[in-house]
Amino acid sequence: MSFYEQWQQASWEDTQLALYSKTAADVEKALRAEVIDHNDFLALLSPAAAPYLETMAVKSHHLTRQRFGNTLSLFIPLYLSNLCANECDYCGFSMSNRVRRKILSEDEIRRECEAIKSKGYDTILLVTGEHETKVGMEYFKMALAVIRQYFSYVMFEVQPLSAPEYAQLNEAGLNGVMVYQETYHARTYARHHLRGKKADIRWRLEAPDRLGAAGMDKIGLGSLIGLADWRVDSAFTALHLDYLRTRYWRSRYSLSFPRLRPCTGGVDPVMPISDKELVQLICAYRLRFHEVEMSLSTREQATMRDGLFSLGVTAVSAESSTQPGGYSQPADALEQFAIDDTRATPEVAAAIRRGGLQPVWRDWLSGW
Ligand code: SF4
Repeated sequence: MSFYEQWQQASWEDTQLALYSKTAADVEKALRAEVIDHNDFLALLSPAAAPYLETMAVKSHHLTRQRFGNTLSLFIPLYLSNLCANECDYCGFSMSNRVRRKILSEDEIRRECEAIKSKGYDTILLVTGEHETKVGMEYFKMALAVIRQYFSYVMFEVQPLSAPEYAQLNEAGLNGVMVYQETYHARTYARHHLRGKKADIRWRLEAPDRLGAAGMDKIGLGSLIGLADWRVDSAFTALHLDYLRTRYWRSRYSLSFPRLRPCTGGVDPVMPISDKELVQLICAYRLRFHEVEMSLSTREQATMRDGLFSLGVTAVSAESSTQPGGYSQPADALEQFAIDDTRATPEVAAAIRRGGLQPVWRDWLSGW
């Protein structure tokens, strides 16, 4: 059974009801528990947990330091292309948006790598729109061959691929793949993904299964906060993670919690998350999953990010450009979404140190 079948059997409405009927007593029970199960996790995610935020934050901080030490890893996204054959109404790269499209050439990739490397990074997240004919396997292999010369740990955030394709890329030196579900609510998913292969929810839901089967080192999950009820989407993300960890136990996992951001032709969040609620979500994830990595992007404001550095997050990006070619040749167009923390890398590293943590640029050396 893939996660798709499990997801079909899980009811969004029942999960929502369970979440919103949690009481203070349920939260206190979860906070006393040595091992937090899914039901306890729902209590920690629920509105009833809001008065317990400080206790959750102290526990989350302690668990994170215990597992990851006083460190915070840094990574940077490299946008290779903004071509996309999908229509997602919340994204600046949507195929109907009239923006200048670009695919980085081999020379341009090299220039971007050199610009990024000079900032000190050794872990990179390669991002593209989803256009399998123009930015498919041949392009990925060419890009990986160049990028592996500069970086020790390489991750992808591209269109979902087949298991044999993931296995080939694993062989070619790819270490991790982020494949965010956006939302686990079927009708909402259909409403926001109007055209293209991304409209096939099953293909996306089963991508982490294919990654696990291909033996990928790291698999990243997450939902886009603002499309649907973020508490229920986070409960489904946790179910998905539970399912994967049981089956593909050799892989590591990471969670992200991107908030919907302004972009060309974008939509407004139906259920925004407040800063306090975002802290609650991160702490709930940490209390439920002690060893899972959690990453934070520059979508968040600088002050918010500085506060979150010690609460459960284990990896952060900095000085990100969402424009293909944006590190070596900054331009004003082509953004996927607006970023909020625009500080230069040394400023972010200094903020990490002020928080009592050591910025880590390299935590991986493969024999590859
Ligand atoms: S979210 Fe991804 S798939 Fe959808 S339009 Fe943007 S780049 Fe394309």
